[in-house]
Parts: sequence; C-alpha cells; structure tokens
Amino acid sequence: MTRIFSGIKPTGHLTLGNYLGALRRWVQVDQHAADALFSVVDLHALTVDHDPGRVRRLSRQAATLMLAAGLDPQVCTLFVQSHVDEHTRLAYLMECTASDGEMRRMIQYKEKEAQERARGRSVRLSLLTYPALMAADILAYQADEVPVGEDQTQHVELTRDLAVRFNQRYGHTFTVPRATRPPVAARVMDLQDPTSKMGKSHAATAGIIYLLDEPEAIRRKVMRAVTDSGGEVAYDREERPGVANLLDVLAACTDGDPERLAQDYDSYGALKKDTAEAVVEVLRPVRERHAELCARPQIVADVLREGAERARALARPTVDAAFAAVGL
Ligand code: ADP
Repeated sequence: MTRIFSGIKPTGHLTLGNYLGALRRWVQVDQHAADALFSVVDLHALTVDHDPGRVRRLSRQAATLMLAAGLDPQVCTLFVQSHVDEHTRLAYLMECTASDGEMRRMIQYKEKEAQERARGRSVRLSLLTYPALMAADILAYQADEVPVGEDQTQHVELTRDLAVRFNQRYGHTFTVPRATRPPVAARVMDLQDPTSKMGKSHAATAGIIYLLDEPEAIRRKVMRAVTDSGGEVAYDREERPGVANLLDVLAACTDGDPERLAQDYDSYGALKKDTAEAVVEVLRPVRERHAELCARPQIVADVLREGAERARALARPTVDAAFAAVGL
C-alpha cells in the first residue's frame, strides 16, 4: 500500500492556504487511498525566533484543527514530530549526506534568511539545515508520496536527491518519494499582495484568511481583496494575479475549474461575494468541530499519544538500518 507523509509546522494559525493546498486533500483523498501519516512538525518551528508557550499552544491548535477538518485517527496516523525521536536521529545522517551548497540554494532559506536579517535577528543554523530534518521526516517512514503545496516542491526534490545519494553510497535503505499537489489552489496567494503566498508565519494582515476566522471577518477580507483596474473577469495568473487567486479559491471550494468559472462573472463584486460565501461554507464545519474538540481536550491528547506510538514503531527499523548502513 502506498505510504504518505506530510506535515504542518506550528509557526502561526493555520490559513486557507494550508487548508486548500494541503489539509483538505489529506482529508478527502490521501487518508483513504493510502497508509497516511500526518504530523505537526514542531521542531521546524524552532528554526526562527520562537516563544515556547506559543509553540506549545499552536501545536495543540494545529492538531485539533487537523482532526476538526476531518482527519480520522481510525484510518490515518496523526502525531507530533518531537514525540518521535527518530526524526532528529535521522536528520543528522541527512546532514551528513547533504552539502551546504544545496541547502543554501533553497528558495525558502533565502527568503527567510533575508526576513530574519531585516528584523535584525541572527539566522539560526537550523534554518539552513531545515531540509535535512524534512528529508528525515519523510524518509523515516519510507513514504512514497508527499502531498504538499507548491512552495514545498523544492524541499521534496532535495529529499529525493538525498535518498538516491544515500542508497548509492550505503546500499538501498530508503524509498525515493515524490511530491504530489492539489489540482487547483496549490499556491493560495495573499489577498492584499497577490504576488506573495498566503503564509501563516507572516505578520497577520487583512490578506490572510485563518481557518478560525469568523464568517464576517472572512467576508470583509475577501471583499477588500486587491484585484486590478481591468474590471473584466479573466483567469491569468501572471497578468492578473489577484483575480486569478480569487478564481482559484472559488474553484477549490466548489470543486470547479477556475477558467470556466471566469466566464460566469462579469464583475469583481459578484466574484468576491460568491468567493466569500464559498470560503465561509467550507470553513464553517471545521470551526464548529474545532470548538467541540476544544471542549474535550482528552480526545486530542489520546490521538496524539497513540499516533506517536505507531509512528515510532514504523520509523525505528528504518532509522536503525540507516545507522547500521553508515557504519554506526
Ligand atoms: P506555512 O508556509 O503556512 O508556514 P507549512 O510550511 O506549515 O505552511 O505548510 C503546510 C502545508 O501547507 C504544506 O503542504 C504547504 O505546501 C501548504 N501551504 C502553505 N501555504 C500555502 C499556500 N499559500 N497555498 C497552498 N499551500 C500552502
């Protein structure tokens, strides 16, 4: 059976981008089609300046939202990365497999390094080595597929390279995984700046829709989304990124096709109104179920404990074999 691994890092409140780019497909497709593991990858949240209490709260919130969105612990495994020591053990072997040059070439590293420097902060070494830990997250489970948004494709490519290199040097140890993407909304853009992605680690702005936003806040944000002065609704990601983003979001929420939807609208106002309502409806059950789960925290705690036990049992033989292969 196909093995799937993917994760979300608790660096902020989950956004519509996380939901449409990843979580919704994990719920609707991946958990049923494969042996799937989903993780709150909290170690990755330490790669930039962090507050311990906030990381703990956000980890719990992310896990709760993953359940609220419909991940079913009866059919998939949900766990917190730091509960399973195999990730950090294998990350070291990945650091010994990768070169510093290939880490420095990662677009996300370059962007985040620039952000940290702009804020006058020193850059943590772990920000550079982040993809080694991510490779370990994936390879420890012999994952075949990694369902992610477009922003993570480069990291999965590097994971493939590391798996191939390790296997060549030390004998076959790891499955070589591949990234998979949703058909639409693989890159949801910021509503106020449609040239940059809607990211949960960015400072909160009116351009970011959070999964726990109230319906009124969602409507306000969508109605104020930046478009352009063209006025005519057409799907063109390069020339008209704001309108294309709204069409992508509407298409993802209604299982439609963005280019075909463009033909149904002759004003931005109508497009925004329908997009806002579609987002409100898609997120409504998630918000309601989240509130129910918050009232029963033991459910989430039990799921995460059992998830970590299963994850540990799966990862340990592979990581032990990797240690043996390198001569330890
Ligand atoms: P973030 O960048 O918001 O901190 P993570 O790195 O935790 O998100 O990613 C969790 C998942 O959500 C990944 O599969 C990532 O590709 C996806 N994702 C994040 N932001 C977006 C976005 N704006 N559009 C589509 N997918 C996204």
